[in-house]
Amino acid sequence: MDKCTFEMDVKDPMLYKLVNEVIKRIPEKYNDNFELFYIYDGADCKWNAMVLGNTIYLDTNRLKSYDTDVILGIISHEIAHVYHHHADDPEPRQHESLDDECQADKTAKEWGFVKEIEKLRKLLGETTMLE
Ligand SMILES: [Zn+2]
Repeated sequence: MDKCTFEMDVKDPMLYKLVNEVIKRIPEKYNDNFELFYIYDGADCKWNAMVLGNTIYLDTNRLKSYDTDVILGIISHEIAHVYHHHADDPEPRQHESLDDECQADKTAKEWGFVKEIEKLRKLLGETTMLE
């Protein structure tokens, strides 16, 4: 089985390491359902991160204000959005659907990021604070 297909241009060494850790921890049985996706850092988002279609933008400065678990939670949550095609419409947007947010959290937890998601929700709140 192939590893999930992604390309990234993450320049921050710490984020680079954490993105790889998330990818590595996604159980193999999910890989076949992934389409190619992209991850970039250095974006200046209104949020910690943003998903647009199959591309994830990470706001390096914002993310680096959190501890490792929270960052892992955010990255896994964003990848779960891509996995579920939550941001396939062409406009960048804040995820308005609470269902999407819950589904992304649930999927990230299924991948094993239970502690991380719980920690970030405790810190950032239940819904749209984190996108
Ligand atoms: Zn989200």
